Amino acid sequence: MTIIKWIKLKNICEEMSGKTIHLHSSTDMPDDHIAGCEFTLQNADIILNMRHTKSEEMVIRSTAHELNHIIKGTKEHGSEFDMECIQIEERIKKEYFKK
Ligand SMILES: [Zn+2]
Repeated sequence: MTIIKWIKLKNICEEMSGKTIHLHSSTDMPDDHIAGCEFTLQNADIILNMRHTKSEEMVIRSTAHELNHIIKGTKEHGSEFDMECIQIEERIKKEYFKK
């Protein structure tokens, strides 16, 4: 079983977004959804579909995607969005795996 450092991940997300972030891992999500998010000015929820995010790699990648939505304040996608997701994923990993 993979141990995810949820608190560390949460803290990284909060630092990057300036919002209070709640991370959830759920089995009760449609199968075609990997993750989702909801956000207001100060708070955000990131919900990961447990069935699709079993590894640390997938948890971080999916969190980066949702965090990008939260930082940009939009649910829209595109090539620029995808580039930013990669950058955010790298930033998260740098902090997350820091000794
Ligand atoms: Zn998305």
